[in-house]
Amino acid sequence: EVRVRFAPSPTGYLHIGGLRTALYDYIFAKNQGGKYILRIEDTDRTRYVEGAIENLIESLLWAGVVHDEGVFIENGKLVQKGEYGPYIQSERLDIYKKYVDELIEKGHAYYCFCSKERLDKIREEQKSKGLTPRYDGHCRDITIEEAKKRIEAGEEYTVRLKLPPNKDIKFKDLIRGEITINTNDLDDQVLLKSDGFPTYHLAVVVDDHLMKITHIVRGEEWLSSTPKHSFLYEVFGWEQPVYVHLPTVLNKNKKKLSKRHGDVAVGDFRKKGYLPEALVNYLALVGWSPEDNREILSMEELINEFSFDRVSKTGGVFDIDKLNWINGQYIRKSDVDRITKLAIPHLVEAGFINEDDVKNRYEWIKMIVSALQEKISYISEIVDKAEIFFKDKVEPENEEVVEVLKGEHVSGLIEAFEEELNSIDEIDEEFASSLFKKLQKKTGAKGKNLYMPIRAILTGQLHGPDLVKTILILGKQNILKRIEYVKK
Ligand code: GLU
Repeated sequence: EVRVRFAPSPTGYLHIGGLRTALYDYIFAKNQGGKYILRIEDTDRTRYVEGAIENLIESLLWAGVVHDEGVFIENGKLVQKGEYGPYIQSERLDIYKKYVDELIEKGHAYYCFCSKERLDKIREEQKSKGLTPRYDGHCRDITIEEAKKRIEAGEEYTVRLKLPPNKDIKFKDLIRGEITINTNDLDDQVLLKSDGFPTYHLAVVVDDHLMKITHIVRGEEWLSSTPKHSFLYEVFGWEQPVYVHLPTVLNKNKKKLSKRHGDVAVGDFRKKGYLPEALVNYLALVGWSPEDNREILSMEELINEFSFDRVSKTGGVFDIDKLNWINGQYIRKSDVDRITKLAIPHLVEAGFINEDDVKNRYEWIKMIVSALQEKISYISEIVDKAEIFFKDKVEPENEEVVEVLKGEHVSGLIEAFEEELNSIDEIDEEFASSLFKKLQKKTGAKGKNLYMPIRAILTGQLHGPDLVKTILILGKQNILKRIEYVKK
């Protein structure tokens, strides 16, 4: 059975690149009829952030990337499900200790008593000589007996991997093919830290093995660590998993996508009003494409069509314009009620409506959303576009609008418009939809000459939402006020 895992560290929020990794894990597992597991890698206590686990889980579930096994939230609490738990590494310290002892006994690891000062010093020396900093093997030959005595005497220690010199380590990566690295180019990696926590390198190997992970799918920044992992599998006598290193998600300047250049947290995209299925659809395409290069794909289609063969070796570029386009497509296809519910918090926050309006004027709010639904590429964009509906008067947006309003037939048009309005109590659908025919008949204006001035009067703009809807939304009194304002 195929088993894949997403193994984030709870250091803050879910990065958009992390979501893509999780998504590939998920759709690959489902494509293969396998299992997708969420494991929390929290062994670096210095980077641990309170609440980050909950945030990761919520972001993943929001995106529809739903795990079968691992850590879940139930009634506000973290719970773990599956046969291979615990799935939070800090709860597995005994397990790692056992495997560290085994490595030491077999001569594949050793105790190291070097102080931080000493390590810093050799690192500086190596750097100043232009060398890649690497542990100098100072403690490699301390016997186990001697080491145990020093530990009993209270000395602080770590445990390091004992790599044999000049050995080629080979492993296969599904995307990059066979990779060979010589141990002379590798460091004697710390496996167990002085605080008793394992490093990532030990924990990841032990857990992937014990949790029966078949495919290790992760970002290519881990590729350089893989030979060490592969060596550990070898000395433990464990079957190697399949490695899949995904190209990094880059920004438009081909640099790693980072906070400095805009949003990178999944939560930020959610807040701005990206739809989960659109974000997921777009992210799937950052570094992968289906055979026919289609761009709109549902989760089900992604699952059916995904394969690592079509994942590119080079980085995928995160293109916000394309995400906006795809998100706009999904917004257009969505039910108005769904978009209205998503838009309401933004309209409330902007001060356009309050909770009472939401209760008492929902249909009216929905009409606004329906007028703007095809004009926005993410929900919070509705605030700027909706502003025109929440004023008593609107200023012409630019000179062009002013020019349109100066047209010689405009005063006749305004008069006819007022007459029509005064003949009714309140605007209804029938009035709004027959208005332009009536105005045309009365004034002789048609096409652009008819629509542009009306649009300019109502919105101060020459482009915008559907006019019939705009008239219905504004209502008689507000329109009369806007007409008065233009006449001045
Ligand atoms: N904990 C690592 C991370 O935060 C996981 C790397 C891996 O998948 O092996 O990215």
